[in-house]
Amino acid sequence: MSVVDLIERKRNGGRIEAGELAAMMRDYAAGRIPDYQMSAFAMAVYFRGMDDAEIEALTTAMLESGRRLELAHLGLPRVDKHSTGGVGDKVSLILAPLIACCGIAVPMMSGRGLGHTGGTLDKLESIPGFRTRLTLEETAAQLERLGVAMIGQTAEIAPADRKFYALRDATATVEAIPLIAASIMSKKLAEGLTGLVLDVKTGAGAFMTKLDDSLKLAQTMINLGERRGCPTVALLTDMDAPLGDACGNALEVQESVDCLRGKGPADLREVTLALAAEMLLVAGVSPSIGEARARATSVLDSGAALEKFRALVAAQGGDPRVVDEPERVLPQAALRTTVTAGKAGIVQRVEPRVIGRAIIGLGGGRTKVDDVVDPSVGIVLHVRPGQRVDAGQALATIHARDEASRKTAEFSLREAMPIAGTAVAPRPLISHRVTARGVELFGSDGAGR
Ligand code: URA
Repeated sequence: MSVVDLIERKRNGGRIEAGELAAMMRDYAAGRIPDYQMSAFAMAVYFRGMDDAEIEALTTAMLESGRRLELAHLGLPRVDKHSTGGVGDKVSLILAPLIACCGIAVPMMSGRGLGHTGGTLDKLESIPGFRTRLTLEETAAQLERLGVAMIGQTAEIAPADRKFYALRDATATVEAIPLIAASIMSKKLAEGLTGLVLDVKTGAGAFMTKLDDSLKLAQTMINLGERRGCPTVALLTDMDAPLGDACGNALEVQESVDCLRGKGPADLREVTLALAAEMLLVAGVSPSIGEARARATSVLDSGAALEKFRALVAAQGGDPRVVDEPERVLPQAALRTTVTAGKAGIVQRVEPRVIGRAIIGLGGGRTKVDDVVDPSVGIVLHVRPGQRVDAGQALATIHARDEASRKTAEFSLREAMPIAGTAVAPRPLISHRVTARGVELFGSDGAGR
């Protein structure tokens, strides 16, 4: 097989056979294909796409480049949630312990920040001592003891994806449905799940900014899951503005603890409970979505999920006092300043991409794979799109490590949050539910969510 031939064929709109994709991913993972050829291939896929059989073959090739978690002996349903990526999305930190309280094992494998989006691993690692690099054996043992583990993709799980994902991040080839679908599903299928719930983001801060593309991404991943015997459901959730108020690693952990205490922003709680209900349903532990939602709400409000989070943090080497005194345990930025409205009016937008890039500029994300992240920095929003504000009203608080980065973030924030006299039409927080049976408007089943 000549890689140049495969690149050329895909560039010209042709198909790549399953055997060719398997050999290519195997050779890439083993270092026999250089990054420059794989970047050219990724760009060809970006422009030419892949058909369903090619996407399935790519997923299988990346899945089979590594090992799988063997968890059948637990005798429990095994369900995970994966988000396609956004700004302020800290749902996993609340959801994983919550679901583990309901007799479901949650082997949650997450990623680091990608492009302008944040990553669950970076958030967890802002808790002093927290280890996300567990071996498969350690993960299985913790799942047996605690019912939940939150880990990074090790060199053992889908290593071809791990390498390809980092390359795509550096070559502007993330935003391609076949590549996102194969990347996410190769990791998830390696977890040995009995069910999967996807949070497919849509809007200005999502990798798929258009609703139709988000629906197509959801359906592509659902088909991959179902064909491999893993029932998969997706909710389409809004990423036209950040989720919740806090954006930035340690700040998001603090907001997650608030939510685990039954407080926190309403949108974060709503998305978390909607995904939780889907997880209980796909796990088969709840008979209906209405019952699942009621059960998830009661577990969250009882404090049981908070205690499970405390146990999870301790089990993975983190300081469990983060649950009681987050401000004292989590790293704090040296500078805090509030940005206020220059005039009265209506907040037109809160641009998630601009906020995400501002956080990278503050040092809270990466521009290169080996950049070190400062967990303390970030932005806390005080207003939402469509909200009326007075001149001088606080729009957001910047948490910065120095004056230069603070100033740049302030400039970006003013660009991200324009104020004008025009009313802003609200967007649904959760718009659609997608299953193997098709697409429905979220909440149209009358389940009383
Ligand atoms: N998350 C992933 O795991 N892979 C992608 O390609 C995009 C988001």
